[in-house]
Amino acid sequence: MIPVTTFKGRQVALFGLGGSGLATARALVAGGAEVTAWDDNPDSVAKAGAEGIATADLRGIDWSKLAAFVLSPGVPLTHPKPHWTVDLAKAAGVEVIGDVELFVRERRAHAPDCPFIAITGTNGKSTTTALIAHILRSSGRDTQLGGNIGTAILTLDPPKAERYFVVECSSYQIDLAPTLNPSAGILLNLTPDHLDRHGTMQHYADVKERLVAGSGIAVIGVDDSYCALIADRVERAGTKVVRISQRQVLADGLYAEGSRIIRAETGATSQIADLAGIQTLRGSHNAQNAAAAIAACLAVGISAEDIRAGLASFPGLKHRMQPVGKRGEVVFVNDSKATNADAAAPALSSYERIYWIAGGLPKAGGITTLTGFFPRIVKAYLIGEAAAEFAATLGQAVPYEISGTLERAVAHAAADAAGDPKGASAVMLSPACASFDQYKNFEVRGDAFVSHVKALDGITMLIDTESGGK
Ligand code: ADP
Repeated sequence: MIPVTTFKGRQVALFGLGGSGLATARALVAGGAEVTAWDDNPDSVAKAGAEGIATADLRGIDWSKLAAFVLSPGVPLTHPKPHWTVDLAKAAGVEVIGDVELFVRERRAHAPDCPFIAITGTNGKSTTTALIAHILRSSGRDTQLGGNIGTAILTLDPPKAERYFVVECSSYQIDLAPTLNPSAGILLNLTPDHLDRHGTMQHYADVKERLVAGSGIAVIGVDDSYCALIADRVERAGTKVVRISQRQVLADGLYAEGSRIIRAETGATSQIADLAGIQTLRGSHNAQNAAAAIAACLAVGISAEDIRAGLASFPGLKHRMQPVGKRGEVVFVNDSKATNADAAAPALSSYERIYWIAGGLPKAGGITTLTGFFPRIVKAYLIGEAAAEFAATLGQAVPYEISGTLERAVAHAAADAAGDPKGASAVMLSPACASFDQYKNFEVRGDAFVSHVKALDGITMLIDTESGGK
């Protein structure tokens, strides 16, 4: 845990006692702050109270006495409208911050030079975060991985020199971190997402920009127009910018040329890594993630050799295009996280011959945007409520069967792929659907896929299924 010492002896109110909120309350108490916590959910309040954290309805407290108000990133700060606690804080002139801001202040107070890499973007955040942490760890660095990726930042070990922090930041967390100043900040890409919580695309982009604007070195993917403009602006403001592209040759920066990552610097180019053969980093989207990870690792002093070793041994992230098993020339890929058609597209573009397991609870539009990938699909195995609708979209273009269940889909796809005279192929769960018709969530669905794959005769598992393969 990172005790928050920067509010020692001062009064702080906190709203939102979910996983990260409770961890934040504990960290504030451990550092000596006088915390008053609250949540709409009485169970969460009771849980915090049982731990000795003071709780009270924040409508009834004296806001003029507060040094800060700490808000959970899950609670609206601005859109669709500010939460009532935010209105009260504003009226009393109390600053509204989140757990990432508390971390940043703690780092500044105790170990301002400890390497800190922060990652944001619309897509690829978790992959890039996990990849960087893996590279650092495998090069022997003391590495702390957290933030939006799932481990609350204040549950990590405290900042100290030579300890590396790799922190995934959602826009909500950035919005609540006004003095965010990572050693290296990554902005991967920007496409419309979560606009319900940000109002406009411009506001969403402005929030994300703040992460790189405050960085020592800003690593920015410049393949979309928002990010390209941000890179120019941040550079004009005097920050060192490393541009990343998966599409274009850059005069200065890191770009992908096929599977090769090229570094261009003052007119000279050199290959810094080759992703060919790294199953967990297939696809051009992963070239963007890898190039950004490489740039950030170089920025904090990791050698190119250590970076290459880390890339080659990256185990991938669970449920995101993760190769989980192999039988002969057939690889079994768990992409259960692909809960809509857009999210399934990168996986479908990354393999040439696919036995595709799809379906579940369909989203609006189904798989109509994926027709461009149909030539790669040898056969589709349709499951869940979406089966009939997806069958209609596939029509005559792609052979399919209505398998119904994931278990049957895996068995049939595996048998068909084994008899494929054309050789190498992928049996892939990339459902383009939510899971809730048949599973509790996409993680449980992905785990079920892995266990059905594991049950196949003659399979070699590529992940440690005891620990779930993370
Ligand atoms: P996030 O944490 O931002 O949600 P993840 O790393 O978990 O992103 O990846 C989720 C999915 O997004 C992946 O399965 C893949 O389909 C897609 N994806 C990953 N990286 C990128 C990228 N750089 N650009 C576009 N899509 C990506």
